[in-house]
Amino acid sequence: MDAKQQVADLMARARKAQEVAEGYSQERVDTLVKAVAWEIVKEENAKKIATLAIEESRLGNYDGKYAKLMKKVRGALRDMKDAKTVGVIERDEAKGLIKVAKPVGVIGALVPCTNPEATPVIKAMNALKGRNAIVFAPHPRTKKTNSLIVEIMRNTLKKYDAPEDLIVTIDEPSLDLSNELMSQCDLVVATGGSGMVKAAYSSGTPAYGVGAGNAVVIVDETADIKDAAHKIMLSKTFDYATSCSAENSLVVVEEVYDELIKNLEAEGGYLVNAEEKVKLTAAMWEDGHLSRHIVAQPAGRIAELAGIELSLGEKFIMVEEDGVGPDHPYSGEKMSVVVAIHKVKDFGEAVDKVNEITGYQGAGHSCGIHTTNEDRVIEVGNRIKVSRVMVRQPQCYANSGNWDNGMPFTLTLGCGTWGGNISSENITYKHFINVTWVSTPIEPVIPSDEELFGDVMND
Ligand code: NAD
Repeated sequence: MDAKQQVADLMARARKAQEVAEGYSQERVDTLVKAVAWEIVKEENAKKIATLAIEESRLGNYDGKYAKLMKKVRGALRDMKDAKTVGVIERDEAKGLIKVAKPVGVIGALVPCTNPEATPVIKAMNALKGRNAIVFAPHPRTKKTNSLIVEIMRNTLKKYDAPEDLIVTIDEPSLDLSNELMSQCDLVVATGGSGMVKAAYSSGTPAYGVGAGNAVVIVDETADIKDAAHKIMLSKTFDYATSCSAENSLVVVEEVYDELIKNLEAEGGYLVNAEEKVKLTAAMWEDGHLSRHIVAQPAGRIAELAGIELSLGEKFIMVEEDGVGPDHPYSGEKMSVVVAIHKVKDFGEAVDKVNEITGYQGAGHSCGIHTTNEDRVIEVGNRIKVSRVMVRQPQCYANSGNWDNGMPFTLTLGCGTWGGNISSENITYKHFINVTWVSTPIEPVIPSDEELFGDVMND
C-alpha cells in the first residue's frame, strides 16, 4: 500500500473516533486525560517504557527517562486539570464576548528519538483535552517505544468506553509517511530538528513546528558560583543531555572564570587540554555532522571514542572555545554531555556572545543566566533573541516546566520567528483548540481624540 493510502486509512479511523469525542463534555474529557496520565505514571508502566526507550534508542539513561515521565506527565496534568476546553470557556460581560472552544480535529504529531517517552504522552493528553484525535509519526529509532505508549493509552481509552482510535500511530515510520501525515491532518505538532521544522511548515497544513535548541548560559561575576556549577552539572548530565534545553555553551565573565571551572570540576566536569580537544573534535564530528556515536552517551563512552582518559566520577566534558560558527563546531548543538565554555570580558560582551551563538544554531530557543543582579536579568530578557530565559535554574529542568517555576509543562518548546516557528510559547493544550468568539452588542465605547492621540495632536 502506498504512503498516501496508508495514512488515509489511519486518518479515517482517527476521524471517526474524533466525531464521537466531539460530543464529549468537559467532565468526560477530563476523566480521559487523567486516566491516560495515571496509567503512564503507574510504576510498572513507566519502568517498562523507560527500559524499552533505552534498549531501543541507546540514547540517554534509564533514570532520566523514568524521571521525565514521572514529572512532566504530572506537571502537564496539573496545568490542564481545571482548564476549560469544551464549549463556553470564557464570558466577558463588559465586552459582550463569549468564547467557545471547539476541537481542531485530527492532530498529526511528530516525536523525536531523543525524547520518545514523555513527548507522545503529553501530546495525547493535549489532544484529548481539546476533544481531538491524534496520529503519531515516531522517529524510526524509537518506534517500539512509541507503539508501547500508544498501546497503553489506547487500552485506557477502551477501559473508559471511549474509541481507541482517538490515539493512533504509524507503527513502521518513514519520512514519506511522516510527510503524508503532515499533509493530511488538521494540525501538525512537530518536535525535533530543523529539517523536520521545515518539512512541517512546507506541508501546507497549519503547524506548530518547534526546532533545535542550543542553550547558552551566562555566569557573571555576581553569581553564586557553587550553586551555578551544581545546577549546570544537573542539567548537562540529565538523561545524558538528550534535552534540547541542556546547557550547550557557558559564557563566563573572566573575573569568575577560574572559580567556575574549579567548581565545575568539583561537580564532575573534565576540562580537556588543547591536544585532547583535537581528539575529541575528531570523535564528535564526522564530515561536519555530529556523530551519532556520541549523541546522548555517557562521558566515559565519548572519552573512550576520543581516546581521552577520564577518572571515576567525571561525568561531563568541558571544552574551551573562543569562536562561533561553522569553523567552531563546539559553538553549535552537541546533544551530548559536552559543554563549550567561552570567556568574556564583562556582562555586556556576554549578552552579545549569547546572541551570536544562538544566531548560529538554536535560534530563538533559550538561554539562562546565573547572576544576583536583577537589572541584568531584565537586560537579558530585553536583548537576547530567545523565547525563554531561565534565571539561576538548571536549564533543561526549568525550560519545559518545573515544580519550582511558572513555566508551562511541555516537551515542545516554540522558538518564535527567530527559529522559523509560528509560536514562541511552550506548546500546551491551549494550542490544540479552536476558539469561536461570540460577540453581542454593548454600549458603544468611543474614546475622544485627546485620549487616543494625546501629545502628538499639538506637535
Ligand atoms: P529529528 O528532527 O531527527 O526527528 C523528529 C521527528 O521528525 C521524527 O519523527 C522524524 O522521523 C521526523 N523527521 C525528521 N526529519 C524529517 C523530515 N525532513 N521530514 C519529515 N519528517 C522528519 O529529531 P531528533 O533527532 O529525535 O531530536 C533532536 C533535535 O530535536 C535536536 O535538534 C533538538 O534540539 C530538537 N528538539 C527540540 C525540541 C523543542 O521542543 N524545541 C524538543 C526536542 C528535541
